[in-house]
Amino acid sequence: MRRGTNLGRLGDFNQAVILESIRRAPDGISRVELAGSTGLSPQTISNVVRRLLDDGIVREDRTIVSGPGKPRTVLELEGNRLVSIGIHLDPSVLSFVAMNLRGEVLRERSIEVPNLEVASETVQLMANTVKELIAEIRVPKKHIVGVGIAVPGPVNVEEGVVLNPPLLDGWADVELVNPLRKLLRLQVIIEKDTIASAVGELWQSKEEKADDFVFVYCGHGFGAGIVINGEVHHGASNNAGEIGHYSTGYKSIKCEECGADDCLAAGTSYEFISQKAQERGLDLPTYEILGPEQRAEGINRLTELALEGNAVAKEIVTETMVMVGEVAGQLANSLDIREVVFGGPQWVKVNELVADDVDAAIQRRFALRAVHEIESRTSKLGGNVGAVGGACVVMDASLSPKATALLLR
Ligand SMILES: [Zn+2]
Repeated sequence: MRRGTNLGRLGDFNQAVILESIRRAPDGISRVELAGSTGLSPQTISNVVRRLLDDGIVREDRTIVSGPGKPRTVLELEGNRLVSIGIHLDPSVLSFVAMNLRGEVLRERSIEVPNLEVASETVQLMANTVKELIAEIRVPKKHIVGVGIAVPGPVNVEEGVVLNPPLLDGWADVELVNPLRKLLRLQVIIEKDTIASAVGELWQSKEEKADDFVFVYCGHGFGAGIVINGEVHHGASNNAGEIGHYSTGYKSIKCEECGADDCLAAGTSYEFISQKAQERGLDLPTYEILGPEQRAEGINRLTELALEGNAVAKEIVTETMVMVGEVAGQLANSLDIREVVFGGPQWVKVNELVADDVDAAIQRRFALRAVHEIESRTSKLGGNVGAVGGACVVMDASLSPKATALLLR
């Protein structure tokens, strides 16, 4: 049910709206333009801007002369006044970024295939690395907005607990937020990595915000982040975007989880990929027991061969990613969106080989083509999208205007 508006929180909301307008104007914005873009009265703009200037979040030391009349003073973000830290816990890599309010990554760090088996040690490693990053960027701790951790789903966001990610042994019901909060004495937020990536894509878009799109995360596994009406869809339990068991239309091997023999998880599994490779005479490593490290190693080898020009490897990589396109096309139909954005570490490596075929699959599946077009593109956030997404989640939670913030609780 819809609830009423809490007018007491309107001031914060207006401040967030103004800050967002300044943030999205890379060349600066004048007070008059702010009034135009936000629809707020000059008096409100003036009060809020004064507060932001006093807090050192924005500055106005530049004037721009454009056309006749007096030069206008523009407001800009103060670069490193506010910084957030993002962490991505992925089965094959643990990544960290420090990002400022402009969305610029100040420092990054990644630990390849870390030993993640003992969760409590990983939590300590995260805390130590965050402290090192904060020391390196030389930003006082009071200007650190918080830490956002992107983790593979499923996740309990409210309690800050990693539930039981398929490829992380020893990570069932691991508390992440409370211990990190205690170790770091900072705000800590957890988010499913595919949802964090979508938050990052939205937060970083400089031009007019895209209202409806799907972010397809391609990493160790595949997942989607859904954006509707300019807001990220979290779902009833903050676990929206599970696409692993959609049917791809290509028969592969029987999936142990859902029982189908044509789901995305089975079609993109290393078991199936290495079986195909063997049948086609391509030498890929095989393993008796297949853990995340082995899977990462096998997929890396396949990717290397494909990028070196091996025809069979290229074929298998393309077939695998086309399955992702088939699923993305179905998702686009259900949601009636105009854009599919691909990103994540695996996409960054192979996108030039596969983007056209993946797009063709989306176009073929898209049932609304008579009504409007669908486009696919590569995210600008790069392979580190999970960690950048985590950093954006904290900024977004603290600073973005959200209609829900106005509702009575
Ligand atoms: Zn399945």
